Amino acid sequence: MTVALVLFGYAVALAVFAGPLLRRARWVDRAPRLAIALWHALSVTVLASAAMAGLALTVPTVQVSGDLAALLRACVMALREQYASPGGAAAGATGAVLALAILARTLWCLARAALRAARDRARHRQVLDIVGRPDRGHGFTILDCAESAAYCLPGRQRRTVVTTAALQALDGGQLAAVLAHERAHLAERHDLALTFSAAIATAFPAVKLFRDAAAETARLVELRADDVATDRTDRLTVAGALLAVASHGTPAVPVGAMAAGGAGAAARVRRLIPPRRPLGRAQATAGSLAVAVLLALPVLVLGGPAATASQHNLCPDASVSASAPMQ
Ligand SMILES: [Zn+2]
Repeated sequence: MTVALVLFGYAVALAVFAGPLLRRARWVDRAPRLAIALWHALSVTVLASAAMAGLALTVPTVQVSGDLAALLRACVMALREQYASPGGAAAGATGAVLALAILARTLWCLARAALRAARDRARHRQVLDIVGRPDRGHGFTILDCAESAAYCLPGRQRRTVVTTAALQALDGGQLAAVLAHERAHLAERHDLALTFSAAIATAFPAVKLFRDAAAETARLVELRADDVATDRTDRLTVAGALLAVASHGTPAVPVGAMAAGGAGAAARVRRLIPPRRPLGRAQATAGSLAVAVLLALPVLVLGGPAATASQHNLCPDASVSASAPMQ
């Protein structure tokens, strides 16, 4: 019961306090990839902690043993002991429902979001095969359109699409910046991060942390792609490209695509004007450690007592046999 309460309290505390803290952190825009990892680690650890709390209620802690027979016997005895009382049985059933509901809802929403995105992209690729034409020199698809847009479709048959209006608005350097931005999305599989965070937010819409994680992931992948583009060219060229694409009207981007320009373009342009200030090595290491700790902590809380409960033997038979003299 204690383990379940600790895990559940940890999940609630993170869900309530961690999101606002991370959203207000000033370093986030300087290291968008690390921030994306932190948002995802937070979401995963909140889900895992809540599910493990249910598991801890359902299955009592037993002493881990190298002897499989002894371990199984301890498990059976502990389960029999817990489920012998009505209160223990109710707690166990509640925990099982909680753990299974979280697991099933998460997997269902993830699978549905992934299938929907793949289907929408496949449809859009079919349309592009009919109405688009390839630019052999740069390897993207040109789409005749009066509105300015550049976007990519991730997946195995990935595409980068630039409309004719965008081509007219961009000079050579800006076009290279836009293509570098889109290829960063494709190379780093930002679509997976977006699909995951959006699916979790859909699965549990009441949890603000998940909604914030989805919104921040959508914003941060754009910052990360801008940073990669500035490695290929200079920051002002990327800012100019964003302005050129965004100021000529941005059409609705197909589902599952990621566009240059669009919402947040003004803030991104402002961010690109001063010189880049990446995080120092100590701050980056601390951030990576935070991701690792967030992911490991629920497992340690659940597994720790089982691994260290050498004095707490829940199997009466086993303790009797252990204390009996050898013959
Ligand atoms: Zn983008």
